[in-house]
Amino acid sequence: MSDTVRGKDDAIASRVRELEALIRHHQELYYNGEPEISDEEFDALWDELASIDPENALLASVGADRSERWPKYRHRMTMGSLSKAADPGSFLAWAAKMSFGLYLVQYKLDGASMELQYDEGRFVRGVTRGDGEIGDDITQNVVRMNGVPRELPEPFTGAVRGEVLMSRTTHAEKYADKANCRNAANGLMKRKDGKGAEDLDIICYDALGFVPSGSPFSTEREKIAWLERMGFHVVPTTECKSPEEVVAYRAKIMDLRASLPYDIDGLVVKGDRIDPEDANKLRPELQIAFKFSPEEAVTTLVGVEWSESGTSVTPIGLVEPVRLAGTTVQRANLANPGMIRAMDLRIRSKVVITKRGEIIPKIESLVENPPDAAPIAIPTHCSLCGAPLVDEDTRLYCPNPACPGKAYHRLEKWLSVIDIKDIGSALLRRLFDAGRVVRIPDLYSLTVEDLLSFERMGDKSAQKIIRNIRAQREVSLAQFVAGFDIEGIGVLMAEKLVAAGYDTLDKLLLASWSDFEHIDGFAEITAKALYQGLRLVEADMRELVDKGCVRIRPPMTAASEEKSPVAGKNFCFTGELATMKRAEAEKLVRDAGGFVRSSVTKDLDYLVTNDPTSGSEKNRRAQELSISIIDEAQFLAMLGRKDSGRAG
Ligand SMILES: [Zn+2]
Repeated sequence: MSDTVRGKDDAIASRVRELEALIRHHQELYYNGEPEISDEEFDALWDELASIDPENALLASVGADRSERWPKYRHRMTMGSLSKAADPGSFLAWAAKMSFGLYLVQYKLDGASMELQYDEGRFVRGVTRGDGEIGDDITQNVVRMNGVPRELPEPFTGAVRGEVLMSRTTHAEKYADKANCRNAANGLMKRKDGKGAEDLDIICYDALGFVPSGSPFSTEREKIAWLERMGFHVVPTTECKSPEEVVAYRAKIMDLRASLPYDIDGLVVKGDRIDPEDANKLRPELQIAFKFSPEEAVTTLVGVEWSESGTSVTPIGLVEPVRLAGTTVQRANLANPGMIRAMDLRIRSKVVITKRGEIIPKIESLVENPPDAAPIAIPTHCSLCGAPLVDEDTRLYCPNPACPGKAYHRLEKWLSVIDIKDIGSALLRRLFDAGRVVRIPDLYSLTVEDLLSFERMGDKSAQKIIRNIRAQREVSLAQFVAGFDIEGIGVLMAEKLVAAGYDTLDKLLLASWSDFEHIDGFAEITAKALYQGLRLVEADMRELVDKGCVRIRPPMTAASEEKSPVAGKNFCFTGELATMKRAEAEKLVRDAGGFVRSSVTKDLDYLVTNDPTSGSEKNRRAQELSISIIDEAQFLAMLGRKDSGRAG
């Protein structure tokens, strides 16, 4: 025998041993109701062994074993799967299309689906979900489960659909080694020796009668009543008159969930009318699984904290600690007094809180107000200056332009716009409270000695801060204006001002409020707020420029605008950049006379991303709107920074 042939034989022998081990292993798992591979995968192993070693002892000794796997059987009802709504928004969108007069809401039981087949009122077969059309016939185990009448009071021929479940109590008492009730139930129901089947319950929710005996019910409500009459355990069903009522009911059940006897992972919502054609679809459209989300939780509002940021006074809800999306949450955003009123929130209200990407979760809806719920007091006066607050429903704020809250916020804003990071908020607060730094120009007269007397810090650190403040910075007029934190005038609005021709500080300070009103995007209120805001900070603005604390970049001439392909263009960034932080890239755009947008809208010129194939919302939107999508290298090239490359 040549070496090649011997080598080939060795390879086959080793594969045979491997297959023997695999088949024994999976045979054992299957027997214990814990298969790790599908029947098809098992068959493939079997067939491979039979083809390379037809005389193998394993095939002969356990030749009957393959047939010992559960026999297959065809369903009588289509076992489709439901479309899902993961949050109230998508549920309401679906409900608006359906516009049922009545919504039937059932628990979505978290177990294993099962079809119970009856002939002339006699139970004949229990078939697992399988691939939706054909499943395992595990009748011998099903007859030992609870909730399966062997004889019905009527000669019904057809199928009843239910869920095989293990109760929480049984799981805790006997099967605590299994991760959860569903895993435990799935394993037990398919054990070949039938052990433990008596610990499983079947709860039913659907049925289909066969002609000629016909269907003994014509609506979903009649169907549920019929199932009960026949002696099945039936899923709890609630009737809701409107989609909103369904949303409120879901919140209530989410709260109760932990105390229910079985695991549920949402609700199933359907209308009362039975549409056999729709029910027969692999994905029926007339019902939906309204799932619970790990990003939602129910808790109790125990207090409200009013936080001041600039002139706005914002309510923060204090809630009983609750686990949400992997973290413990104790505070939730309440947005504004209008939200408190609209939801009728009170102290002790049960509420749904959600966390969908936001840093602070928000209070989404009210579940219920207990009788001892107390009204939430909305502050009437500014805690900083005592002025009466203005309650605009969507916003509560101190109207006093000289409010210290406003002044402090302006300093913070300035430091962030001008990009001076070394002054911590604790130090700034102390300088402000002591009256040493109240206006922006005060920052520029700070000395090393000042800093050392306000905060314990090294000489070097103090010198660094002073150097940083005094490093004369060049800023765009838009940044300069935005840094003064005038009501409603952020960088974006300031850019509009500049684009409208107010491109020097003089032009801006000489304009009347009615001039501003004609600018695109400026309504009367914004125009007046800008005009009045400018009057308040005019002197400080002039002082900064006159003393040379900062330099405002001269307006772009038409010629220089033509030179930079970035000037006048709108950019939006998505995903990470390789050579810089996003904030730096945005600064580069602004410095070159371009604009930065936070979302993809039709006036966007470029979406910058290093992963144009990612399924992100921004990418998708940009493609829809045919907006140019460029990568970081192309972006840098536009800025004339070709060689700034990957060296970082
Ligand atoms: Zn105030």
